[in-house]
Amino acid sequence: MSRDERIVIVGGGIAGLTLALQLHQRGISCRVYEATPEFRPLGVGISLLPHGAKALIELGLLDRLVERAIVFQESYFFTSRGQLVHRDPATSEFPQFLIHRATLHEILYEAVVARLGADAVVLGRSCTGVVEATDGATATFVDTVSGAEAEAQSGRAVIACDGIHSRIRAQLYPDQGEPVFSGVNMWRGITVHPPILSGGGHIRVGTVEHGKMVIYPILDDIDAAGNQLVNWVAEIRQEQAGPAAWNVPGQIADFIEPFRDWVFDWLDVPALIREADMIWEYPMSDRDPVDRWAFGHVALVGDAAHPMIPRGSNGAMQAIVDTVALADALVAESDVVAALARYEGERRDAVNAVVLKNRVTPPDHLIEVVEERTGGGLFAAVGDVISPDEVTAILNSYKTAAGYSRAALAGERAPKEQTS
Ligand SMILES: Cc1cc2nc3c(=O)[nH]c(=O)nc-3n(C[C@H](O)[C@H](O)[C@H](O)COP(=O)(O)OP(=O)(O)OC[C@H]3O[C@@H](n4cnc5c(N)ncnc54)[C@H](O)[C@@H]3O)c2cc1C
Repeated sequence: MSRDERIVIVGGGIAGLTLALQLHQRGISCRVYEATPEFRPLGVGISLLPHGAKALIELGLLDRLVERAIVFQESYFFTSRGQLVHRDPATSEFPQFLIHRATLHEILYEAVVARLGADAVVLGRSCTGVVEATDGATATFVDTVSGAEAEAQSGRAVIACDGIHSRIRAQLYPDQGEPVFSGVNMWRGITVHPPILSGGGHIRVGTVEHGKMVIYPILDDIDAAGNQLVNWVAEIRQEQAGPAAWNVPGQIADFIEPFRDWVFDWLDVPALIREADMIWEYPMSDRDPVDRWAFGHVALVGDAAHPMIPRGSNGAMQAIVDTVALADALVAESDVVAALARYEGERRDAVNAVVLKNRVTPPDHLIEVVEERTGGGLFAAVGDVISPDEVTAILNSYKTAAGYSRAALAGERAPKEQTS
């Protein structure tokens, strides 16, 4: 088998496809090998925060996002009694978007096919492992449908973008075990609904301790009545992790209890849940951070490197930012091993800190602080419970750690964060 100059990308999810576009933009050839024989529209919403949106805009995808996503206007934080704690308006010079994961994936896939050619993504190839050599690496595959051995693929590097259950990471970390269950299960649904509040808001209500909802629209004007597709996630604490697959249907009876009385003057939450077209169940899990992502000619990117619990809308964002760092490193360093090490050096500590911060003080920690102080009761004025400075400090601490504070977007270095 002759060594190919291409970069072999394993996994054609958000990270793998974005990486292919980044490399192509820099004149580096690559090919993506994806286990799924056919892409299906699985998953629900993704909030494209400014750091991720910036990277996609720089890839020339702004028009497609404007066409197929909702432009984000603000974040809302409500208590479980439906009282507004804080409204955080969009401030970034980069537009943010609220989008169906499948739509984002489709936009990326279409761009890869248009720019790199239809054969740039090979479907139905499940990676079984990777073998490193002195001048590159080889990924081995089976045909996903038949299970038969498929042609191995060599390149000057193999990049693992194969998600939280990464086969390559399992080979590099044979003792890592299963993902770490956070003690919270999620039910995700999509409901046809009139615009809620501004119609462009990312809404968080309540706490994971007593029941939390995340609600935001992902498609506008879907009918003559001006309805939207509204994506929602119900999160509740449970002892057992739910099934870890993206296509497991959820039952309302299993999670409705904490939300039964959530009929607010701005939204009837039980009705939103009951009227969903479809509901899926999924556990909230991550993995403990690891101190190495680059192993010679092999590197981990996205969820394969740093799966995180989705309490800060950052899994996909950090994956997208990884691809920028890796592509830039491959341009900056003529030696591939040095490039992968440089990528790791730029990203690892910062992203591992986000993984830990999501466990303890993600953005909705703001609601936890308020509910702890009110004992879950009503307040007369939010300023009696928490000061504006404290609100800003909690939210900015997260934005700084995750890399989308004003300073970070302007390219200034973030101060080291305390994350545990
Ligand atoms: C079908 C699906 C639905 C999702 N829905 C949501 C959602 O609704 N909300 C949310 O917050 N996150 C969702 N996620 C996860 C989210 O996409 C990631 O957390 C984030 O975008 C990081 O992207 P990633 O590319 O690293 O991982 P992923 O997006 O998970 O992509 C990994 C890719 O690698 C492929 N793959 C896995 N193993 C192999 C192998 N051995 N060989 C070749 N390919 C392999 C997978 O099929 C997948 O396409 C979903 C992921 C998937 C795969």
